[in-house]
Amino acid sequence: MIKFLDLYKINNRFRDVLQESFARSLDDAHFILGNNVTTFENEFANYCGTKFCIGTGNGLDALTLILKGYVELGKLKKGDRVIVPANTFIATILSVIHADLVPILVEPDPYTYTISVDTDKAVFVDAKAIIMVHLYGQLAKVEELQKLAKDFNLLLFEDAAQAHGAISDLNERKAGNLSDAAAFSFYPTKNLGALGDGGAVTTDNSELANIIKLLRNYGSEKKYTNNIIGFNSRLDDMQAAFLSLKLKCLDGDNERRREIAKAYLKGIKNPKLKLPHYDGSMNHVFYAFVIEVDDRADFIKFLDANSIEWLIHYPVPPHQQEALRCFSYVNLPLTEKIHQRIISLPMSPVMIDKDIQSVISTLNTY
Ligand SMILES: *Cc1c(COP(=O)(O)O)cnc(C)c1O
Repeated sequence: MIKFLDLYKINNRFRDVLQESFARSLDDAHFILGNNVTTFENEFANYCGTKFCIGTGNGLDALTLILKGYVELGKLKKGDRVIVPANTFIATILSVIHADLVPILVEPDPYTYTISVDTDKAVFVDAKAIIMVHLYGQLAKVEELQKLAKDFNLLLFEDAAQAHGAISDLNERKAGNLSDAAAFSFYPTKNLGALGDGGAVTTDNSELANIIKLLRNYGSEKKYTNNIIGFNSRLDDMQAAFLSLKLKCLDGDNERRREIAKAYLKGIKNPKLKLPHYDGSMNHVFYAFVIEVDDRADFIKFLDANSIEWLIHYPVPPHQQEALRCFSYVNLPLTEKIHQRIISLPMSPVMIDKDIQSVISTLNTY
């Protein structure tokens, strides 16, 4: 069996240091917002190149707290429209709803799957913000989106949950440092994954950073003094310590992912499989290697018969989910078409060469 992603193997590389770190946490007994959180926040801000990083409970909360933060600051208000890509993980859209804002769904560019910048400009006129998603690990069209945000006076945010360490070709800035504020997830399967839930916001905006620090901790700076109506969404102290250890390997892991992607792109020669667009640069960290196929059901049978694990990111687009039915979204033909055709191949930094070659040669016989 060729695993889609071997989480055991990924984390087992850190077994000894993780166990030492756990033992230290057990001894210190400082489990909530301890030194490990502050240390990781500084390291991750440094890594991304931003002034601030604020750890949160998960990626959805990181997104939501950015938006709630701007509401607190008076820069967004209830009912404001926020542009999001239609083909994203539902969390991007839920964050907008949780912040009492209105998600406006925009179709993707069919080559990169990131939000299209050639869309009808009318949507930008009515909107107050854009959340770009660096989908599958590839940076969205950052320069174009920055320009649109400037021209239409919009806030620009990143959902960087799949793109830790992706670097812009233009100015060598990293994901997390390409907009007003960015949200990361450290869900275990992400390129930088904890051993449980975790998330973070990165930003250069000190006002926003301060508000999010309050919001994530009951609106409180001083214990039992509540300045604003807050939440409980703190990055767990033990997870922060684990993340500090794993952050050291992020760049190496991303490089390995790119190597695997390059091997797939070079080796897979099958007209029935449409391979992803990739320009060979560091703007992609291949959270997922997503291909398209006409008859996906048939291809899945083939993969199963050949013991190659697969996943679909994602089988049903958000606008067709029961949960979002009340928004009465119109048809989004491109998004719907993509969702019917995509499938993700095995991809992880611990994948061995033999398995990469085996995927390639097997796919060439389909
Ligand atoms: C994983 C993910 C999230 C949410 O992260 P959680 O930590 O699971 O809340 C948000 N957006 C995208 C694009 C993701 O892939």
